[in-house]
Amino acid sequence: MLPLDTPIEKLSGVGSKNLPRLKKLGIETVRGLLWHFPHRYEDYRRQVPAEEIREPGEIVSLQGEIIKIKTTSLWHRRSVTEAFVQDHSGVVRAIWFNQPYLENSLPLETRVSISGKTSLDKHGLYLSNPAYEKLTSNFPTHTGRLVPVYPETEGVTSKYLRFLIKPLLSAVDISSDPLPKHVLEKYDFPSLNSAVKSIHFPDSPEEAKQSRQRMAFEELFLFQLKSIASRRQALQLKSVPIKFEPQKVKSFVDSLPFELTGDQKIATFEILKDLEKKYPMNRLLNGDVGSGKTVVALTAAYQTARQKKQAVFMAPTEILARQHFGTITSLLGKSAIPPTLDPRLVAREFSSGHTADLPGLVIGLLTGSEARFSRNGLEKKVSKKIMQEKIAKGEIGILIGTHAVIQKDVRFKELGLAILDEQHRFGVEQRAALLKNSAHVPHLLSMTATPIPRTLALTIYGDLDISLIKEKPKNRKKITTKVIAKNQEQKAYQFLEKEIKAGRQIFVICPRIELANPQETIKAKNGKDKMNVLWSEVKAVTEEYEKLSKKIFPQFKIAMLHGKMKPKEKEKIMAGFKNGFYDILVSTSVVEVGVDIPNASVMLIENAERFGLAQLHQFRGRVGRAEHQSSCLLVNGGDNRFENKRLKCLENCEDGFQLAEEDLKLRGPGEFTGNKQSGMPDLAMASLTDLELIKKARLEAKLLLKEDPGLSSYPLLKNQLAQFQKIRHFE
Ligand code: ADP
Ligand code: MG
Repeated sequence: MLPLDTPIEKLSGVGSKNLPRLKKLGIETVRGLLWHFPHRYEDYRRQVPAEEIREPGEIVSLQGEIIKIKTTSLWHRRSVTEAFVQDHSGVVRAIWFNQPYLENSLPLETRVSISGKTSLDKHGLYLSNPAYEKLTSNFPTHTGRLVPVYPETEGVTSKYLRFLIKPLLSAVDISSDPLPKHVLEKYDFPSLNSAVKSIHFPDSPEEAKQSRQRMAFEELFLFQLKSIASRRQALQLKSVPIKFEPQKVKSFVDSLPFELTGDQKIATFEILKDLEKKYPMNRLLNGDVGSGKTVVALTAAYQTARQKKQAVFMAPTEILARQHFGTITSLLGKSAIPPTLDPRLVAREFSSGHTADLPGLVIGLLTGSEARFSRNGLEKKVSKKIMQEKIAKGEIGILIGTHAVIQKDVRFKELGLAILDEQHRFGVEQRAALLKNSAHVPHLLSMTATPIPRTLALTIYGDLDISLIKEKPKNRKKITTKVIAKNQEQKAYQFLEKEIKAGRQIFVICPRIELANPQETIKAKNGKDKMNVLWSEVKAVTEEYEKLSKKIFPQFKIAMLHGKMKPKEKEKIMAGFKNGFYDILVSTSVVEVGVDIPNASVMLIENAERFGLAQLHQFRGRVGRAEHQSSCLLVNGGDNRFENKRLKCLENCEDGFQLAEEDLKLRGPGEFTGNKQSGMPDLAMASLTDLELIKKARLEAKLLLKEDPGLSSYPLLKNQLAQFQKIRHFE
C-alpha cells in the first residue's frame, strides 16, 4: 500500500510541469491529493440510448463505438471535430471545438463513454462538447456517473485530478480513523475510508453529502479540541493579577463626559473580573463601529495603571494611535491643562489636588515616526531612546502606539495588560510579540469592529472569551442609507454639492478595480512594473479623484488617500481632512480603520457590490459621529439584481451582527477570517454556516477531553492535533 505521506513527485502522471502547479494548490503529498475535495459534481448519471435522445438541452450519457470522426479546420486556427457514436440502439453525433487531437485519440472502433448536453442544429440533435473517455472497464471516471469537479488552477484541470486521484483510492490504506468509534456511531457517520472514497466518486448526491459532512465534522472537531486544549494550556500560564477597585473605577467612569451604555458596563465588568485572575485573560471585545470600545479598554488600562502595572494599546495605523492618544489623554486628565500654561501654575494646580484622579500617571505615544508622553495634561516630545528607557523603568503607565511598541528594543517593566485594537489587522507573530516582551504573560484584550457571527465565534474564536457591545450610545442619529444605480450618480452629485455648501465633508470610497487577469501588470508611477493588486486600488482611486476634481467638482478641494502612500503622506492628508481643509476625501478601504471625522456627513461608496455587507456597514460608521444628519450612498456599479437585493439589506438594517450573518450566508466566511489567519481547512470553512454541525463538534470535543484529557486512548487524534496548524495566542 502507498503511504499517505508519499510525495506527489513519486506518482506517475506528475511531471516537472505539473508539480509546481499542484503545489500551488497546496498539494504536496498523496494525502494532500486525496484531501483535495471536489466543490461540486457534474451529474452524468442519466444513461440514454442514442435512439431515445429526443430533445435539446438534456444532459445524457451513453456508451458506444466511434464509427466516424473528422476534424475540419476553421479560421484563426480554430477547428471543429465531428464524431458519430453507435450504441445498441442507434447513432448519435458529437461535436467538439478546438480539440483536433481527438481524431487521433479516439480512432475508429474505439469504445467510448460520452456525457454532455444535447443541442440542435440543421442536421438534427447532437452532443455539444461532451465529456468523453475510452471505455476500458465498466467503471467510467469522467462520464456516466457523478463526476467530481475540483478547485482548479492553470494547467491542473478536474480531469487531470480525477486521473490522479481515482487509482490512488484503491492504492492507499486509510482504514485507521482518527474519529472515535462512539462518535461515528452516534451520528451515523461513514468511516474515513468510505468517506474519502465517496467524497470523490459518490454513487448518489446523498452519499456525497454524508461524506462531506463527516469530513467537515472531523475538521471542526479537531478545531474544537484544539481550542479547548489551548484554553486549558492558558490556565497554566502565570499572569499579573490586577486587583479590581470598584470605587476607583466608578469615580473614573463618573468623570467621563458621557454615561456608559449597559453593554459597555457589562463588558468593562467582565474584563475587570478577568484581570484579577492568576492566568492571563484572552478576551475579544466585539462591538460595532462607534459602539465605544475604546473607553472600555481605557477603563481596564486605567485600573492596570492604578495597580502600578503597565498597559499597552496597539493600533494598526499611526493615525489611529495618535487619535487614541488624544482621546485617552483628554479622558484621563479630567482637568487637562493646556500645554501653553505656565508650568508653575500647573505644579500649584497639581498640589492642590485638582488634576486627574491618578496624578502620577504618564501616558506615552510611540509610533514609527514619533515618541511623546503626557502627564497631567502636559505633553512632551522625546526621542525614541528616552521613551524606551521610560517604558523599561515602568514610568509609562499606559503606552499607546503602532507596531513600534513590539520592536525588540521596547521592554516593559511589568506589562499587565495588552490591548489590540482592530485585532484582525495583526498577524499571529505580531500578537505573539506583544505578549512576549514581559516576564509574565500579560492579559490580552483584542478588539474588533467586525461583528462576528455566532458560528464563527464558536469555532475560529473558540479559545477566546467574548464580550459583546450591541447597544449604541444614545446620542447616535440614524444614518440614511440608499442604494443607487450607476446612472443616478448625477443626482447624488447634486446632493453632495448641497452638503458641501452647507459646510459638511464627504468620503468617497473606491474598491480595487477588477483585473481581467489577476496577474495583469499595471505600470507603477515610477516606471517599474509591479504585479500587485494594490495598484488596481490605486488606479481606481486615481481615476475617481481625477474625475471628481477636474470634471464634477473643480470648485471644491479634494484629496486622495490610498495604501501605497507613505505613512507621512497619509497622515498629512488625513489631518487636512480632519481640520476641514478638504471638502472631499477619495479613498480606498484604508480609511476603514477607526478615524473620527465628526464633520463628515456623507459616505459615498463606488462599486459597493464589491464589498461585503459587514464592511460596508463599517464604512457607514465613519459618518454620523456628530449632530449632523448623515447619509450613506451605495453605488451599485454591477447592475445586477442579486447584488442590488444584497445591498438593499443595508437600507433597513443597522445591526452589524445581523449583516454579518447575512454576509456569511451569501459570501462565505472569507470576509471574516482574513488572511488565512484562522488556519482553518477549506471544508470546515465551508461548513461554518452549519451551526448544528459545529455544536455537535464542540459537544463531542468537550466530552472526549473530559473522559480522556491527554487523549492517550486516541493516539491518531492526538497526533493530528499536534500537527494541526498552530494558531494565535499563547504560542
Ligand atoms: P469604536 O467602538 O468604533 O472604537 P469609539 O470607542 O471610537 O468606538 O467611540 C466612538 C465615539 O463615541 C467616541 O467619540 C467616544 O468618545 C464616544 N462614546 C463612547 N461611549 C459613549 C457613550 N456611552 N455615550 C456617548 N458617546 C460615547
Ligand atoms: Mg475603535
